[in-house]
Amino acid sequence: MQAYREEEAPIIESGDGFEVIDVAGRRYLDGTSSLWCNVHGHRVPAIDEAIRDQLNRIGHSTLLGLGSPPSIELARMLVERVPPGLTKVFYSDSGATAVEAALKIAVQSHRQKPGGGEDRTLFAAIGGGYHGDTLGAVSVGRVERFHSMYGGLLFPTIMLPCPSGYRLPEGHDAASWLAHCEAELERVVTEHRHELAALIIEPLVQGAAGIQVHPPGYLRKVREVTRRHGILLIADEVAVGFGRTGTLFACEQEQVEPDLLCLGKGISGGYLPLAATLCTDAIFENFLGPPEAGRTFYHGHTYTGNALGCAAAIASLQLFERNHVLENVNANAVLIERELAPLLSHPHVGQIRQRGILIGIELVQDRSTQLYFPSKLRMGHQVTLAARRRGAIIRPIGDVVTLIPAPAMPGDLVRRVCQTLLESIDEATRSA
Ligand SMILES: *Cc1c(COP(=O)(O)O)cnc(C)c1O
Repeated sequence: MQAYREEEAPIIESGDGFEVIDVAGRRYLDGTSSLWCNVHGHRVPAIDEAIRDQLNRIGHSTLLGLGSPPSIELARMLVERVPPGLTKVFYSDSGATAVEAALKIAVQSHRQKPGGGEDRTLFAAIGGGYHGDTLGAVSVGRVERFHSMYGGLLFPTIMLPCPSGYRLPEGHDAASWLAHCEAELERVVTEHRHELAALIIEPLVQGAAGIQVHPPGYLRKVREVTRRHGILLIADEVAVGFGRTGTLFACEQEQVEPDLLCLGKGISGGYLPLAATLCTDAIFENFLGPPEAGRTFYHGHTYTGNALGCAAAIASLQLFERNHVLENVNANAVLIERELAPLLSHPHVGQIRQRGILIGIELVQDRSTQLYFPSKLRMGHQVTLAARRRGAIIRPIGDVVTLIPAPAMPGDLVRRVCQTLLESIDEATRSA
């Protein structure tokens, strides 16, 4: 807050397509999709109209004991689009709550399964993972910057090594590290197969870890090992879902069918707080029984399945198809790779990580020794400020500069934001 108060960050008053506009009328290209959630741009007529139309009926009514047409219609649309096997939808209002619901469903489902319940309360997760800021989500996450403060409040989770990284441990190359990670996965899951309720993973890309891209095949391997041992797989697609990796959902790329799927961020097109946890029939059925049997999932948020949010989400999914948004993502992914290629030989760029339109650029003081910049320089932040002066909003994660354009951003704007990024990295690192 101290640094923030000194720098007079823009106060955003309005938006227009893929730009946000501050109270002084300055326009900025939205290079972070308003924190990874905006999909089709701002003030999109079809989404605005869907929300207004819903507003003319009702803004919100509870889903606790009642239903609503937009929540029903959206549930059907989601089930038709997610990987096969996921047939039931539980709504909440943020990525973190979608994860909390998944964790609790996993534990309770094991307790109530046919043929005698099992008390499984342990989770496995991938090192460096991020699943939200509520305590259950923090317990299964491990981004030091976010998590070190709350250690005493968290439940224990088994952390598996992350199969990607810029600075691999001594003696490893990418292939040997992947083999090590897969062997650890196998070993740990086998060892704890009677205690583990579920394994949670961000499929393909660990976003908040600094856009860590998993090697091909790792997700499939995780599915194969968890299935073999009867351990549920929770796919947290809060960041990667809704097109960002080039398919509507990242799991599709390795033909993986998780038992639970967490959706948030882009679900409403980036308009309103909405999230969903999807599960299989097999899990759902473990919660059925006469009310007195007490098999209910006691979990509900006041604004769960908010009607305005669901209306926006329905309109957003329709636009995906109408505007061929996934094709745009794949074209832009190629474009970005080409536009950022000059950074491959930049003296202060250690690594460029990209999957689809999720990009992380790791800044270093010395490319050959992989030496970090001193943290007090806040080099990632300096790049952000340089970009801001040039009319683009970018956000760093430490010294990883991230570029997360909206899936529907037109190519000419994507090119402009890439050029701005190149200039900003040059300017910020020139004096270093
Ligand atoms: C952002 C994020 C969350 C948390 O979502 P919120 O809406 O901020 O609670 C969970 N998981 C992943 C992978 C995320 O990127």
